[in-house]
Amino acid sequence: RAGKALFEAQRVGGHGKMIIHGGYYASPAAVLDGLRNGEFFLRFQAVVDLATGAAIGAEALVRWQHPTRGLVPPAEFIPLCEASGSIVVLGEWVVRESVAEAARWRRLRGEDDPVSVAINASARELTSAGYGEFVLTECANVGLPAALVHIEVTETHFGSDAAAVRDNIRVLRGAGVIISMDDFGTGHSSLSRLTEIELDVIKIDQSFVAVIETERESPVAELTIKLAATLGLQVIAEGVETEAQAEWLRERGCLLAQGYLYSRPVAADEFVARFLVQPVTRA
Ligand code: C2E
Ligand code: MG
Ligand code: MG
Ligand code: MG
Repeated sequence: RAGKALFEAQRVGGHGKMIIHGGYYASPAAVLDGLRNGEFFLRFQAVVDLATGAAIGAEALVRWQHPTRGLVPPAEFIPLCEASGSIVVLGEWVVRESVAEAARWRRLRGEDDPVSVAINASARELTSAGYGEFVLTECANVGLPAALVHIEVTETHFGSDAAAVRDNIRVLRGAGVIISMDDFGTGHSSLSRLTEIELDVIKIDQSFVAVIETERESPVAELTIKLAATLGLQVIAEGVETEAQAEWLRERGCLLAQGYLYSRPVAADEFVARFLVQPVTRA
């Protein structure tokens, strides 16, 4: 099993030896150990209303405080977990922790002031039968309405087993879960596919927001905002770091954003203190 996983890790990472060695640390056994030892934790990044700066929700982003490797970023270990299959057990933990946290926010804020949680799903999770039901069960267990959960998918998820992905999305959306297309425009985009997938939100990738700073133009971001409007979808801009970018987005009708300008990914308590308990005071 380990040998197969490492081969896949090498293929996915494409960096040869470094990834082969690196692959061991994200094996299913290692990830299970890490979960038992409390090495994984979540950070939450506010999703804000561009007009007011108030949070409408937060995205859960996983971190691994590894005993010997230190803090490992998800961009490094998530692909390895996908390759080894350990993403399934890790993903289940992420869902459980995220919905439990969102249920706390709901108790804090009350029913009239909904705060959503966005969870990144991997291809492995989305293609596994029963993933949709699993998410709904976890919501029910903590008393969180499914409509307060966003599941983020990417275009690359629709490559391999699109039918299985569509089944899970149908189950989730049927119960009210919001489906977001993450990193839009960076994968193997197909505009026809976009209309085939049952979607609610398109997230503009941070690379298309970053160029606004230097160019004051971002054709892809602009087109994505228009496309979302045409399709009747919501749009969230990622990686907003400056007021100039926020203004550019507002001028073009983008209503929601995430980025360091508003908040880095922070511990749940900090998200609560800064966005849910106090009124927003941003200079
Ligand atoms: P993503 O879902 O597109 O998440 C956005 C990434 O952009 C996060 O990186 C976030 O910290 C970063 N970011 C947010 N605002 C800014 C900004 O203003 N400037 C810049 N430069 N960066 C910003 P992070 O947390 O390192 O996560 C990287 C990726 O790892 C995520 O991209 C997502 O694809 C994946 N990931 C994270 N957590 C999970 C998880 O629980 N499950 C799965 N399957 N993937 C995850
Ligand atoms: Mg995401
Ligand atoms: Mg993204
Ligand atoms: Mg991503």
